[in-house]
Amino acid sequence: MYFLNEEEKLYLHKYLIPQSRDTYIDYDLRGWNWHKPPLEPIYSFKLGVAEIANNYCLTDRDLYLKKVMNKYFSANCKMLVGGIMHKTIKEFITYCKKELYHHKIDEIGKNKLFSLEETIVLRLLNSCKLDKCNEQKAKEKIISLWEFEKQRVNYRIQEVLASQPYVGIDALVYQVLPVVVEQKLNGSFLGLSPYLSTDAINFSEPMIVDTKFGRKNEFHKLSITGYAIVMEALYSFPVNLGCVVYPTFKENRILIDRELFIINDELRQKFIERRDDKMRMIYEENDPGTYEECYNDCPYYEECH
Ligand code: SF4
Repeated sequence: MYFLNEEEKLYLHKYLIPQSRDTYIDYDLRGWNWHKPPLEPIYSFKLGVAEIANNYCLTDRDLYLKKVMNKYFSANCKMLVGGIMHKTIKEFITYCKKELYHHKIDEIGKNKLFSLEETIVLRLLNSCKLDKCNEQKAKEKIISLWEFEKQRVNYRIQEVLASQPYVGIDALVYQVLPVVVEQKLNGSFLGLSPYLSTDAINFSEPMIVDTKFGRKNEFHKLSITGYAIVMEALYSFPVNLGCVVYPTFKENRILIDRELFIINDELRQKFIERRDDKMRMIYEENDPGTYEECYNDCPYYEECH
């Protein structure tokens, strides 16, 4: 999921990285300037990155209901299955690293690694309540996703083993899986939750990656922008690139659409404006009203209509 194909690598290295070096980013919009406007938060309470970036409800009434009216919704089936898919990717990457560290380097090419155990499938399915029909569909997706990732990781292992005869386990793990999944970040400096969690940080192609198992939306780039600003605030180095991954399941295949982009001024400005607007709405308890054409599966539909 997090490893680019050859065309994407070419695009990244020949176009996007050079372009990002030439793109001027307003110094005031770099995360390390969190202590002064416009990044300095106006209000003392905190919001999550997704709460700021998401714009599924065009009036943001979903956030108003949650934060001002304390109305919490039960996740619908689509959300639950999406959550299981995220957990599958996290589980897979962690499991691979564990497996690799448990083997000697000369055993790795020979042994069959990364088999999906039934206990893992059960654990993933039991992490939420699905009816029988959706449970079966989710199980099929877990297996497809795992097998897809397994083949890609095995290919990467063979590539490293073939080109680096003296590689050790630690270096192999880093070269094959240069990713931290569910990296925890403290966003307090920016008025964000102290317990933020990014899907992944890819160190081989220095970028923040977010996976979305649903429709494409422009505001998905804003979540990544938020995490980038937080990383700049915490570590004081520039984070210029993001990638949203949209996997879809088509019969037995997984199709992947990756959107690579520069985290430019426009995105940064938009993220900060949305943070301030949403915080103001909550602080002043302003009901933004309903939207006429609400999306079908909005979990607050009953509440608003
Ligand atoms: S039902 Fe409509 S107005 Fe209410 S939260 Fe959902 S999208 Fe927004």
